[in-house]
Order: sequence, then structure tokens, then C-alpha cells
Amino acid sequence: MPDLTIVVPAYNESEGLRDFHKRLGAVLDGLRDLDSAVLYVDDGSRDDTYAVMRELRAGDARVATLRLARNFGKELALTAGLDHVTSGAAVVIDADLQDPPELIPTFVAHWREGYDVIYGTRASRAGESGFKKFTAAGFYRLMERLSSTPIPRDTGDFRLLSRRVLDALGQVRERQRFMKGLFTWVGYRQLSIVYHRDARHAGTSKWNYWRLWNFALDGITSFSGAPLKLATYVGLAASLAAFLFGLWVLGKALLLGDPVRGYPSLMVVVLFLGGVQLMALGMIGEYLGRLYVEAKQRPLYLVDEYVAPPNHS
Ligand code: UDP
Ligand code: MG
Repeated sequence: MPDLTIVVPAYNESEGLRDFHKRLGAVLDGLRDLDSAVLYVDDGSRDDTYAVMRELRAGDARVATLRLARNFGKELALTAGLDHVTSGAAVVIDADLQDPPELIPTFVAHWREGYDVIYGTRASRAGESGFKKFTAAGFYRLMERLSSTPIPRDTGDFRLLSRRVLDALGQVRERQRFMKGLFTWVGYRQLSIVYHRDARHAGTSKWNYWRLWNFALDGITSFSGAPLKLATYVGLAASLAAFLFGLWVLGKALLLGDPVRGYPSLMVVVLFLGGVQLMALGMIGEYLGRLYVEAKQRPLYLVDEYVAPPNHS
């Protein structure tokens, strides 16, 4: 059984996968005293990613492949991969060479010192637009304020997870999986390593802004109930303001009589409160929808085929 398995989720990555494996293979060759394996997870790719994976498996006795029944998204592909690491520790890395495999020996060194989670923190993000960097920074800072589990800033999924962390994650079966939140949630001894994130080696990013927005919503709703409380406080503030305004209207009517006026203020109040109420309903809906998905208890992912590495089976 391997001591360390590198889990690589890939969706339509056939272009760059061979180069990725070359670089990763060289790094693993350097870790001679460690019995390592690589698990490629094909997240229902529509190009020939799986064919490339099979080719890599044929050429390298360390390679295992896992193919999901369809595209389940990166978080679930990762979960599936980690579930199949039944012994030793795991490293999670993107297939597009944005996370440098050369950092793995550093992770391993700290793992040997006794750390359980060693994660890469991005000092820079090459090849990403200013707007993406801005929205990403804003998201991490918002999460920091809202979530009771402090999710480290500028940190992706690139990390090493020790055996006991993998066992802990195996017990977390929630469907809305915000992996970097869960990685932090388990606790234990965590360490951050700063690195420079490269531009994508080949292919394109699978994350458009709509997908990122939904990812952010998943993150916030699975790690914070703050939006639910917001409705309470906005409601409270509005009621207080309404009460004071009511006193003033009443006083004025008693002292000065009651000529029918006030259409503009009435309109503003009605529209404002209508908006606030719909927004609060929407926020409750976000949580309720997730609760619904959770209640259905469907399996997290379905496996099409799993082939263990030849030298470990
Ligand atoms: N990925 C995946 N399933 C998906 C989308 C992405 O397994 O549905 C993989 C992808 O192949 C890559 C990693 O997740 O190895 C990160 O994806 P990407 O590079 O598109 O994200 P970005 O780096 O732009 O955040
Ligand atoms: Mg990428």
C-alpha cells in the first residue's frame, strides 16, 4: 500500500495531462524513500482525458485511475479521489500545472515533522485577470468575517492531508462540499506554505463567473448562518424606524390635522420593505434549497471504473 497518493481531479485536461505527469513523475522519483502513487480522477471529461490517463497508467506502475459516471464538479471529484485513498496520506493538486508539483517534497518534509494539513497559500496568481483577483480577494475576506471556521486566505485545494485528516473527511458526507472549508474544519495541526501560482499550462479554466458566484454561495451557506441573521436585524431596524416614524405621523396628525398627503413617502416605504422581504425570503430559500438536496440523501458521486495501480493491487 502506498504511503502517499497524489490525487489529481481532471475535467477536459487531455492537452496538458502528459506534461503534468512528466513533471509530477520527476518529483516523485526524487522522493525515493517514499512509496508513492498517483490517482487520476476523470470527472466525466468530454475529450479524450480518460484515454490519456489509461496511457499514463500503462506507462507508469504508480498510476491508478478513477472515472466518474459523469461530470460531478471538482469538489465531488476530489471527494471521490480522497475516498479511494485507503492508506497513507494524500496530496491534492490541480491537473493544469497551476500548482507546482515541485512543492510536494516541502509538504512531505513538514508532514514528517508531524503536521496534518500542509497547504499552499498563493502569493501571486499569474495569468488571471485583475477582476478575478479582485473578486477572489473580496470573497476570502467576506468568508473570514462570516464564517466561524476561519478559512485561510488565498488558499486553494493544493495541500497534503495526513491519514487522520483523510479519515475525518471520510466521515463528512454533506452534499454541498466546500472542500477548502472542510479541510480547515477538521483542525489538527495545519501549516501554510507560500508559493507563486503559475498560469494555466494548457486548456482553459472551467470556472466562469456564474460558477464562481455559486461556488461562493455554497461556501457561505455551508459555513455561515450570518445571512439568515441579517434578515432579523434588518427587520428589527426597520420596525424601530417604522415605530418612530409612526409616532411622528400620529403627533403631526393630532396637532396639525390630517390633510391627505404623503404618497411619495408611502411609496418609498412600501417598495423598500417589499424588496427587503423578498431578499430575506431569497436568503432563506438558499438554505432551504440546500437542505432539500441534503434531505434527498443521494450518493455523492457514482464511479464508472476504478483501476488500482498495478504495483499496489
Ligand atoms: N475540475 C474538475 N471538475 C470540474 C472542473 C474542474 O475535476 O468540473 C478540475 C480541473 O481539471 C483542474 C482543477 O479541477 O484540474 C481546477 O480547475 P480549473 O483550473 O478550471 O480552476 P481554476 O484554476 O481556474 O480555479
Ligand atoms: Mg486552474
